[in-house]
Amino acid sequence: MQSAVGIDGGASTIKVVCVHADQSIDVVAVVPVGSRPLETARDALRMLRERLPDARVRIGITGTAGRTLCEVLGLQPVDESTALAAALGLLHPETRSVVEMGMESQRFLTLTPDEVSGRLRIDEVGMGHKCAAGSGSFLEHMRKRLNYATIEEFATVAEQTEQPATLSGRCGVFTESDIVHLYQKGTPRERIAAGIHQAICRNYRCAMMKGREAVAKVAFVGGVSLNPAVTKYLRQELGLTDGNLFVPPHARTMGAIGAALRAEAELDLDAAIRLLDERLALPVDYPVAPRLVLERTEILRPAEEYPIGLKVPLAALGVDIGSVSTKAALITQVDGKYQVLASHYRRTDGDPLAAVRDTLAIIRRQVEERGYQIGRVVAATTGSGRYLTGDYLGAELVKNEITAQANGALAFTPEVESVFEIGGQDSKYIALKDGVITDFEMNKACAAGTGAFLEKQAANLGIPLEEFGDRALAGQHPPELDWQCTVFSESAVHHYRQNNVPVEDLCAGICLASVRNYLSKNVGNRPIGKVVGFQGAVAFNRGMVAAYETMLGRRIVVPPYPHLTGAIGAAKIAYEEAPAKATFRGFDAVLEARYTIDSFECKGCANRCDVNTFQMEGGEKFYYNDRCEKFSGRQKRRVAADLPDLFAERENLLLSIYPGKAPEGAPRIGIPRVGTFNDHYPFYQAFFTELGFEVVPSDATNTQIVRDGVRTVAAEPCFPVKVAHGHVIDILRKKTDYIFLPAVMRAEWLEEEFCESQSCPYIQGLPEVIGAALRLEEPQYAGKVLTPRLFFNRGRRHLRRELGRLVRQISGGTDPHRNGNGHPARLASPSARQIDRALDVAMETLAQFRRRLSERGREVLAALPADALAFVVLGRPYTLHDAAANMHIGKKIQDLGILAIPQDMLPLAEAGTADTWNLIYARQIQNRLAAARLIRQDPRLRAVVLTYFGCGPDSFANQFLRDELNEPAYVMQIDEHTADAGVITRIEAFADTVRAG
Ligand code: SF4
Ligand code: SF4
Repeated sequence: MQSAVGIDGGASTIKVVCVHADQSIDVVAVVPVGSRPLETARDALRMLRERLPDARVRIGITGTAGRTLCEVLGLQPVDESTALAAALGLLHPETRSVVEMGMESQRFLTLTPDEVSGRLRIDEVGMGHKCAAGSGSFLEHMRKRLNYATIEEFATVAEQTEQPATLSGRCGVFTESDIVHLYQKGTPRERIAAGIHQAICRNYRCAMMKGREAVAKVAFVGGVSLNPAVTKYLRQELGLTDGNLFVPPHARTMGAIGAALRAEAELDLDAAIRLLDERLALPVDYPVAPRLVLERTEILRPAEEYPIGLKVPLAALGVDIGSVSTKAALITQVDGKYQVLASHYRRTDGDPLAAVRDTLAIIRRQVEERGYQIGRVVAATTGSGRYLTGDYLGAELVKNEITAQANGALAFTPEVESVFEIGGQDSKYIALKDGVITDFEMNKACAAGTGAFLEKQAANLGIPLEEFGDRALAGQHPPELDWQCTVFSESAVHHYRQNNVPVEDLCAGICLASVRNYLSKNVGNRPIGKVVGFQGAVAFNRGMVAAYETMLGRRIVVPPYPHLTGAIGAAKIAYEEAPAKATFRGFDAVLEARYTIDSFECKGCANRCDVNTFQMEGGEKFYYNDRCEKFSGRQKRRVAADLPDLFAERENLLLSIYPGKAPEGAPRIGIPRVGTFNDHYPFYQAFFTELGFEVVPSDATNTQIVRDGVRTVAAEPCFPVKVAHGHVIDILRKKTDYIFLPAVMRAEWLEEEFCESQSCPYIQGLPEVIGAALRLEEPQYAGKVLTPRLFFNRGRRHLRRELGRLVRQISGGTDPHRNGNGHPARLASPSARQIDRALDVAMETLAQFRRRLSERGREVLAALPADALAFVVLGRPYTLHDAAANMHIGKKIQDLGILAIPQDMLPLAEAGTADTWNLIYARQIQNRLAAARLIRQDPRLRAVVLTYFGCGPDSFANQFLRDELNEPAYVMQIDEHTADAGVITRIEAFADTVRAG
């Protein structure tokens, strides 16, 4: 083999190596890409040329940026996986799996040696979806967010911390919101740092490996492999002892080495450099978006400072612990207008209480310097850290961000009708009529256009964030970017950068794409009022302001302190309410107080919550993050004390309505809590117990079950299907004799006029989907997994036939699976009469369960006063009646003093919705529409709708629901990453909206 050059053009660095005839390796360059990748590539080629006596080389080029280079040079790129396999085949032929984590990319390979050539052959490839989580850029971003000086320090701390905080890790946005909420609840920074590293390894396993095993030896390559904490958690996550997962010496340049080994092209370096020079001088052609316009927008300025020594009988302090920043404002009213007396904005830097203390010290200093003489100060907190901060300050009020932001807008623009608020990593839309919130939306998943996103874009473009807006305004030909997803627009920006589109145009394109993304995801088809307030720190970015004006063609009002509107709004509410009972500790007391924050893992159940504590010296201890409120519940004001817990009642009834018990030593049938379990369990329980089996349900959903499910799924189904996998694993762990996993094809008719009564295709196919992921076809499960196909709408005869057959199949004769295992003998085959009897009992038990539910519903509604308010929770049985999956939504509603009613306590069958919706074939959607009609007809009721990321049927059904409901509802999208704090904020805001309306 003669010498060959390999180039790996990644998102952050270009690596150039020479592999010589004797297989020695020369690393020529590892250069950062910067903001001009093509230029960097040309410079790297120049460096190479200087090292070589001859301009002609044999070359292989790989990597994402490498592809653009190949396009320009007219070469065929080397596939990245092939390059890795070639390099490892040469340097580490014992490798059987490859984990690659680069700055923006991830990959998983399994390899086998070819019998003939002995080369490593690629068996399977797992490629990164476009999500950046798990990549180096995400870690870098997180390092900054947590304020570590270097990535090395960040990694070392994470490696040395024993107890990582639990984070989600599906995608950057979600991990980031978890982080924010954790540290605002007082979780120590080093535990979060460790949690981030652990989460990306977990994310890697789920997203990349999708249930595949990493067979030893496993090579960990790519830039991130140099991070010792990622290596540590990857080993743990993959269950590999040290020697089985190794980081090879050329981990970072492995792709380039492989490209050299697979090099087939001949290239004249001098000609290539000339070609690149020419290309760099050429303009690029691309679809152009409109230029930014900033003509009608009104940017309000703060009022002049007030006279020194102003006497202020009442001032209100608002503190907003946002995702990245801590904000505070001290306000009062002068001549009926709100005035800001003192304010401060700073980064939270991973320590919310220190940030609040520092902020208050600055506010106090401003007050002293300006000589205000203040009578009384009332305080309110808002933002995701509002509860912890509220306890710290002894604030009179704790308010959700929606209500606070709306009030922040109203403080300066009373006529505002729409509020767009864009903060560090979330965004909100609020609709107002005559100063009352009528509707709102918080961004659910997408970070496009948020402060964190723009910060990242500025860093990618290599410009200071402060210049971003003005550079955008200077853009002449902004490219039309994909606005659906931040990650896609990022790759487009990356592409344009490589093609030398001016940074100004890219900034403008990013602003426009962000605004379109915001309008599509937050506003949708809701109306936009004549007066639009744009606030949040992003409103300082004039490029973003102009992008709104350009897209909407109307006047936008930016308030005088756009970054403080949450704090100002909270203060305004406190000022207006000024509760008689003063609780604010006062500036001096807060600044002098000593406190401790701590955390511990509760081992009370499988959730293993990371419970955080906060205690003022000599004061009460406060608890956060305990899912069941085992600790924090003691302090919570129980506004809900006199409300019945209908969710708990239902759960109790479901599990206990059938009183029978199996005889000692009976064969055990495990029933996972999946599909229609929460609708049909009494039926199954009665049927099998009557026939002499012991029925064992899986445990209630807990963190372990969710985690097991998420890591096992083969594809990317909806959240309930992921959890269903975890429940079956739980049953497998219980080692029952049988697993009952029916495919419920049809439920009972809601009304006869409906055309169908179908279950979702996932529910119909659950046995196959879960069976494939858990390999239930393997010999050890033969005869144990019972998967009848049930059509409840066909009635008794059908159920008799299917279940009778099934029971006979597991009774009588001898069972090879039990022999010698110490299991009880099989039951004698039941007679036809026994089966009939068991079925009668089962059907009667189910009927009784449903009767009791509707009787209880009637009773509750009859007792509900005409002016009372109740929220009916709508959803599918697997999450509606699963408190852990629905984030204890019933309890959260009742904590607001509002009765929460599960939808099936309403008389759904009497709603008569078949008149309009008879062609809806899905029974669960029929249920929801029926509930919606009953809610619409009863002024005391409002809807809280549970829906799921990745749910196909809901994507169209929710529109029908909106039509039927015809009034605002709170729609809560759930998945394994749904954060508690976000749910509380939304439900509080919804309650405020309904109460004010
Ligand atoms: S849910 Fe409650 S009991 Fe279970 S671990 Fe969390 S705090 Fe402890
Ligand atoms: S209806 Fe939606 S949430 Fe339910 S199983 Fe089907 S896809 Fe999943």
